[in-house]
Amino acid sequence: MTLNAGSSSIKFAVYPVNGDHPIAHGQLEKIGSDDAQLTLHGGNHSETRSEGSLDHTTGLRRILSALDGLTQGAAIAAVGHRIVHGGPDIDAPKILDSALLDKLAEYAPLAPLHQPHNLAAVHAAIAAFPEALQVGCFDTAFHRHHPWVNDTFALPRSYYDQGVRRYGFHGLSYDYIIHRLAQIDSHAAHGKTVVAHLGNGASMCAIRDGRSIGSTMGFSALDGLPMGTRSGQIDPGVLLYLMESHGMDAADLTDLLYKKSGLLGLSGLSNDMRTLETAGTDEAEQAIAYFTFRIRRELGAMAAILGGLDSLVFCGGIGEHSARIRAEVCTGMEWLGIALDAAANEAAADIISNGTTTVRVIPTDEEAIIAKAVRGFLAV
Ligand code: ADP
Repeated sequence: MTLNAGSSSIKFAVYPVNGDHPIAHGQLEKIGSDDAQLTLHGGNHSETRSEGSLDHTTGLRRILSALDGLTQGAAIAAVGHRIVHGGPDIDAPKILDSALLDKLAEYAPLAPLHQPHNLAAVHAAIAAFPEALQVGCFDTAFHRHHPWVNDTFALPRSYYDQGVRRYGFHGLSYDYIIHRLAQIDSHAAHGKTVVAHLGNGASMCAIRDGRSIGSTMGFSALDGLPMGTRSGQIDPGVLLYLMESHGMDAADLTDLLYKKSGLLGLSGLSNDMRTLETAGTDEAEQAIAYFTFRIRRELGAMAAILGGLDSLVFCGGIGEHSARIRAEVCTGMEWLGIALDAAANEAAADIISNGTTTVRVIPTDEEAIIAKAVRGFLAV
């Protein structure tokens, strides 16, 4: 089983021990609202049902009992968990024993919206499946071999030693995309690639020969691109000003930067790209313009640190589904060898370009990369 527990959703899948295709999968969304929705797919069965108001623990219990019917009581041999923060040393999936779980709990302040939910899911899974192997797969792991200049901030060195580093996130998604690229175009997988994971959370990763050398996200999942409700990169002087002149404290700034900024803050309307694309207000259009401007800016910066660009890959809800955003990101990027094929882009074809740099749309699958890691521990 794979579990991917976020702040308001839990994605899950059940795989046969020696197979790549899930027997059942789905997600519980809108946890914390009055109207949580459970979607389940398995065999010929598909359903979405309202679960009312529930928390993560009750939500996981509902998922497990709903899955029981679909998996015909098959025993769970192992549970693979998405864990956002693995700290400075973890660069690969790990068996989750109690010493490691204690260590991971210490990183909760570094990823307050995710880490506590990830770890709560681990404890719930241990209680539900005490005999099963519990495996952690870390979003930071893919980035742990960044060159030092991309791992540090220009603060006194003692902060680096205490763990104030550029970790980078969305690593499971990038790992999957690189595995998939290796299957469809091995030359590209060994070349210079930028992957743009554009969802509610959004980041970009510069990858050379299959390894991350730079990420737009840094110490926290706040940095880099503007997101649904997160600010992305911001001058730290703004934060000092808000503290000194507006009397804001850490809790106020956390709320502002994580929950009220980004597309929501700029549009004054919504964090959801679909809503903004159809809204037609000046503010919604400006929010979209800021989003695509920052992506183009980071794309240029990443091409510079890669020393060129062979492939650009779009994934995440926006990257996969919004032809408009992909087109706006690629506009004016001819100097990087990017020439968009408009018809292929509208059709969300595998390859949507006809220039020297290949632009692709690849649906990401974090569950598949977790299942692959778990299989490694089961030695099948
Ligand atoms: P998360 O980071 O929560 O996993 P997703 O990867 O599911 O988020 O992406 C959610 C985003 O994708 C939302 O902003 C949503 O509006 C956007 N999105 C999904 N489908 C479309 C579409 N057809 N056109 C534009 N945006 C879309």
